[in-house]
Amino acid sequence: MSDPWDGYDSVGGSVPLDLVNTVSWRRDPARRDDRLSDPVRLSEWVVLIGLGEERLEISEEVLEAVKAFRETLYRVLVSDPPDASALRKPLLAAYRHAELAASLPLRWTVPLTDGAALPHRLALAAEELLRSGDLARIRECEGPGCGWIFTDHTRNRSRRWCSSSDCGNRARAKRHYDKGRG
Ligand SMILES: [Zn+2]
Repeated sequence: MSDPWDGYDSVGGSVPLDLVNTVSWRRDPARRDDRLSDPVRLSEWVVLIGLGEERLEISEEVLEAVKAFRETLYRVLVSDPPDASALRKPLLAAYRHAELAASLPLRWTVPLTDGAALPHRLALAAEELLRSGDLARIRECEGPGCGWIFTDHTRNRSRRWCSSSDCGNRARAKRHYDKGRG
């Protein structure tokens, strides 16, 4: 059997953005593909991105919570203006489950001791990104239908595609085609 994660790459550059990117072709209903199709897929993804070392036991309920959070996060990221208050509820829940380290500076953590902790861990990771990350560098791929999000780390902020070999390549091929026709 082929590995459903074959060729998986961290396009987003951070856990929250990679979570959003577990949906491929988000803006193309005909091609939309959700890689978190069942709890096992989610537990595999957690290991794949390095959040945990072993697979967590994940319930359907946790899977739904993670996916709901993923969609909320996507909307906050791409809406203009963003409605970050949509994150209030998942963040409050996360803090109820979080531990506060004894030492300073203050540091909240959600240990991944079981699957139920996962949505809270992801919510805190998203907060960290949106609180301290360079928001102007977070962008959506320009590929039609793609919908993947990434942080642009290029010096001149010129990244346009999720991947130059993917959407970037398609755009080049299209330009070439259009030029040939014209
Ligand atoms: Zn793309």
